[in-house]
Amino acid sequence: MSAPAPITRRERLAPGAPPPAGTIPLTVPELRGNEWAYVKECLDTNWVSSVGSYVDRFERVVADAVGARHGVATVNGTAALHVALMVAGVAPGDEVITSTLTFIAPANAIRYVGAWPVFVDAEPDHWQMDVARLAHFLERGCRRVDGALRNVATGRRVRAILPVHALGHPVDMDPLMELARRHELVVIEDASESLGALYRGRSVGREGTCAVLSFNGNKLVTTGAGGMLVTDDDLFARRARHLTTQAKSDALEYIHDEIGWNYRLSNVLAAMGVAQMEHVREFVDAKRRIAERYRDGLAGVPGIAPMREAQWARSAFWMYTVLVDERAYGMDSRALLRALAERRVQCRPLWQPLHLSPAQRGAYHEGCPVAERLNRDGLSLPCSVGLGAEDQDWVIAQIAALAAPREQIAASTAPREGGA
Ligand SMILES: *Cc1c(COP(=O)(O)O)cnc(C)c1O
Repeated sequence: MSAPAPITRRERLAPGAPPPAGTIPLTVPELRGNEWAYVKECLDTNWVSSVGSYVDRFERVVADAVGARHGVATVNGTAALHVALMVAGVAPGDEVITSTLTFIAPANAIRYVGAWPVFVDAEPDHWQMDVARLAHFLERGCRRVDGALRNVATGRRVRAILPVHALGHPVDMDPLMELARRHELVVIEDASESLGALYRGRSVGREGTCAVLSFNGNKLVTTGAGGMLVTDDDLFARRARHLTTQAKSDALEYIHDEIGWNYRLSNVLAAMGVAQMEHVREFVDAKRRIAERYRDGLAGVPGIAPMREAQWARSAFWMYTVLVDERAYGMDSRALLRALAERRVQCRPLWQPLHLSPAQRGAYHEGCPVAERLNRDGLSLPCSVGLGAEDQDWVIAQIAALAAPREQIAASTAPREGGA
């Protein structure tokens, strides 16, 4: 399928509907290993619930891949975030500092424990939480009162930082951890989108008290739905496990010592995860190859800025994203999205920054202009692990062909002078 047919009027669908047949998808799972065999084994042996050897194996392989002592598998990444915040002791009315440019899960999890997010803008180079803005908030916007750090504007106690390693790229953690130490804040890393990435040579998810991963269908490694909390802290892991299994303290007599949650992953899904983890290195390599091919292929296209990698990072390039400069390219990111959809290429804008989200009203922020610009100009391109070079070249060719001719751009951006 190197040249999918343009979509017909009859095929044109409502926004959000599945793309028509023949479309190059944004990202689909890669399920060509032992997934079927391991899942079948669960069914054949009757080990289908959350008690089963694949859950333990999945926790072990993921924790090992990250380099953590413990993994606690959960039904999804949002549940893992919820548990992490509870175990960290974040209480109702507290504030947790997080990224504004992210999928909404971390902010929702903060609300589940009755706390409030404080949203920090993205930095313009790698689009991660801007640690300089974080420092500005902690040093100018907060004050220590009776031993507790308080947001001067809201009066709330600031308890934790929840940086999101977005789109496969790490946040600059060294200065962030330095701030966390100085202000005595817990750090919970949301590494859902960045399994396989490195920060200064270390696996992402090794800096904070714990890190959270997601195995949702569009993530690098998937169990359909699933998540995990990884940590080196024995007590943290034990308490997380307790809370995800209804806080059962006596398995025979069914005695529960507090309110718990039913957040454990099932053995069937963990089996899929074990099979997926056998290929995690190849998956990251594939994502990096795709990123390189886009970078090279789009290099000459005016107004298309590729995703960048910090010199201290090895990105997992989970969701390959470009910025579309409307003036230089000739159309904006949403017009390009529609034009590519007509050519059977499925793309997606970045998330609405959470400081603008109606669901997150009441959260504090100090203005996030960079995230707003990234949201306006960002467009994620097809980047499945299994994306073939021919299909990718076809996507690149469409983006190049849709660019305004150079003369037209020169005319529209040149300073107007009389007499020409
Ligand atoms: C995917 C994701 C999650 C978790 O999502 P689930 O669907 O609950 O597994 C959390 N945070 C971020 C940033 C994500 O992208």
